[in-house]
Amino acid sequence: MPESSDITAGLIERVAELEAERELTLRLAQTDSLTGLVNRGAFTSALVERLEQARAEGGSVALFVADLDRFKHLNDTLGHHAGDLLLAEVGERLRTLAQPHELVARLGGDEFALISDGADVARRAQALVSALGQPHSIYGRVVAPGASIGVAVFPDDAPDAADLQRFADMALYRVKTRGGRRWSAFDAELRAENERRRTLEAELRRALPAGEIVPWFQPVVDSADGRTVGVEVLARWNHPEQGLLSPAAFVPAAEELGLIGRIDEAVFEAACRRAAPWVAEGLIELVSCNVSPRDLLDPAFSRKLIGRLQQTELPATALTVEITETFLLQDLALSRRHIERLAAKGVKIALDDFGMGYSNVRALMNLPIDTVKLDRTLICDVAKDARVAKLVGAMLHAARALGVSIVAEGVEDQGQALFLRAAGCDRMQGYLFARPMPGDEMDAQLRAGQHVLKRRARA
Ligand code: C2E
Ligand code: CA
Ligand code: CA
Repeated sequence: MPESSDITAGLIERVAELEAERELTLRLAQTDSLTGLVNRGAFTSALVERLEQARAEGGSVALFVADLDRFKHLNDTLGHHAGDLLLAEVGERLRTLAQPHELVARLGGDEFALISDGADVARRAQALVSALGQPHSIYGRVVAPGASIGVAVFPDDAPDAADLQRFADMALYRVKTRGGRRWSAFDAELRAENERRRTLEAELRRALPAGEIVPWFQPVVDSADGRTVGVEVLARWNHPEQGLLSPAAFVPAAEELGLIGRIDEAVFEAACRRAAPWVAEGLIELVSCNVSPRDLLDPAFSRKLIGRLQQTELPATALTVEITETFLLQDLALSRRHIERLAAKGVKIALDDFGMGYSNVRALMNLPIDTVKLDRTLICDVAKDARVAKLVGAMLHAARALGVSIVAEGVEDQGQALFLRAAGCDRMQGYLFARPMPGDEMDAQLRAGQHVLKRRARA
């Protein structure tokens, strides 16, 4: 029989082991495995803690967020393994640079953060920029991705951790989009921008249930006879003070604020209800709705859209959903699931703004895409520039070979229309035929057109 003191010693040892294990598990759960730095979850709690401490002691906290400038490119060209090595090296550099009172974290991807005190922010930012600007050697190749830094300070800029992160991100975003100096602090300009966004957010939240955001309609015509065969739905905001607002005034902000899904749902439902009788009476065949690339990131998007469609009288086969190529840069697997689910219900898919930047023909081949909409910037020069004409001709040819139908957007004059018709473009849309208009006007036009057609048929 072991002595009771042996049992106690054994127990104490076991407890110590378990504690060490628990600590290790805890540490691992807080650590980014690639760089060994603190991960996002642990970073967020650490930031909250530091702010509490600073609040109690009357101190300040600076949050620096850093993002590598050419990481995606390097990752794509050198491979993921090289990308991982680079991130690990960047982590090591930040660890070396950090002083004992500072905390470095990897927030995910090529995004890092440093928590420091609010003293001498400019010098610290400059040190970060130059440390991250030094070239790295990866597999014997010298690479210099460079980095951009945004910084915000508690309590001067932001009262809490959430705002502090948002403001540092806004500063970082400005560096990324403007170029020039590689770091920026949150300042009066960004504060004004933040205020504008806040106001817009509050206004959008009020406008949605008030029904101020409504669908307008622009005719899509058959190239052969100019007859209206469909409509594209375009959102408009009937703002009580500012009057009629175009999507450019609120769609990008709504995307950023995470409100675009609600806008698209509201516009979609109202448009389907309005247009259902036009389809039922044979005035048009197709109703085309825009969705944001953001919508495709919502796992419930296609299910909700189909459910909403079924509540209107519009048949699925009369609906086209317009997507832009930017979805290819996001979650391709999820987007593909949505697109295939919609296609399986008979909904048509159009690729919008085609020919503008990131044209990926492979996406066309691999997805059930029915229609390609040629971007206005291409159509604009089609009758003036022989090279553009050739390019559009080749696109039309390729689309026909793939069995995809083509809509030319932004057709403004007869020269363009003549060229497109001769080149075999199926359908056109643009100011030459009609501008976007409210539902009542569209309704009146369609019925008047039908009247003309009937009269013609009788004659
Ligand atoms: P888009 O899908 O490319 O829509 C075509 C845009 O070109 C519309 O601008 C239309 O008014 C304009 N347009 C049509 N014909 C002509 C023409 O001959 N000349 C010129 N210069 N412009 C023409 P709009 O209505 O301002 O919409 C802008 C963009 O906003 C749309 O581009 C679309 O990407 C987005 N959008 C519109 N409605 C919605 C919506 O309900 N949800 C989402 N997510 N985005 C929308
Ligand atoms: Ca569109
Ligand atoms: Ca377009």
